[in-house]
Amino acid sequence: MIKVQQLYKKFGTNEVLSDISTVVTKGEVVSIIGPSGSGKSTFLRCLNLLELPTSGIIEINGKNLTASKKNIHKIRQQIGMVFQHFHLFPHLTVLENLTYAPMKAKGIKKEEAELKARLLLERVGLSEKEKAYPNSLSGGQKQRVAIARALAMEPELMLFDEPTSALDPEMVKEVLDVMKDLAKSGMTMVVVTHEMGFAREVADRVLFLDHGVLVEEGQPMEFFSHPKTARAKDFLDKVL
Ligand code: ADP
Ligand code: MG
Repeated sequence: MIKVQQLYKKFGTNEVLSDISTVVTKGEVVSIIGPSGSGKSTFLRCLNLLELPTSGIIEINGKNLTASKKNIHKIRQQIGMVFQHFHLFPHLTVLENLTYAPMKAKGIKKEEAELKARLLLERVGLSEKEKAYPNSLSGGQKQRVAIARALAMEPELMLFDEPTSALDPEMVKEVLDVMKDLAKSGMTMVVVTHEMGFAREVADRVLFLDHGVLVEEGQPMEFFSHPKTARAKDFLDKVL
């Protein structure tokens, strides 16, 4: 589903991603971990062209993102993104947050969009909040709405950038549970996270980034119990 080849990203002279190559297959859940400033967000943002790679190739479903400017809107519609700080539309109700993009970008009729939105709200356990505005919700509820909103576009791929980092500890689980369900349903997911428990239990593969370099990748069990590099060992000693 995703093929990344020799991806480089520079901000001015600062090389933030250096020669990254990897493949994500359909239905796979990949966790990206690494120290702050190692390029995790930039990598994720390159995958839907929120950042333009300096060089390298990114293919989504066989379509070259970096070459086909004309397809970019189509391809982006297939990619859902969930951010640390939710980014809900504050002036729209929960239901309207979910129906806005499908109606606007896909031309789906209001009734149909609402039907779909209600199913998604049920799935994330927020049916009773459809008329609420975002500022009346807890952080965990906001993030579940954000996930439902991304799903409303029926993406083939979901990207998460530290979805639980801005949450109070007691709300982390409700969001991770929604993500676990999503993973079980077969969604392809790339998840930047500091939740090592999630990476260990849910991810099929872990990518460890340090200073913009993909230092290690492997199965979670293998990576967490036998990291191969000193850099990964050092990181894990600090976070586990
Ligand atoms: P992480 O998500 O792993 O914490 P980031 O991808 O956010 O790391 O950042 C990696 C590096 O790129 C940092 O040194 C950061 O300062 C730099 N960086 C990120 N975004 C920009 C930007 N828009 N302009 C300039 N530098 C940036
Ligand atoms: Mg980041």
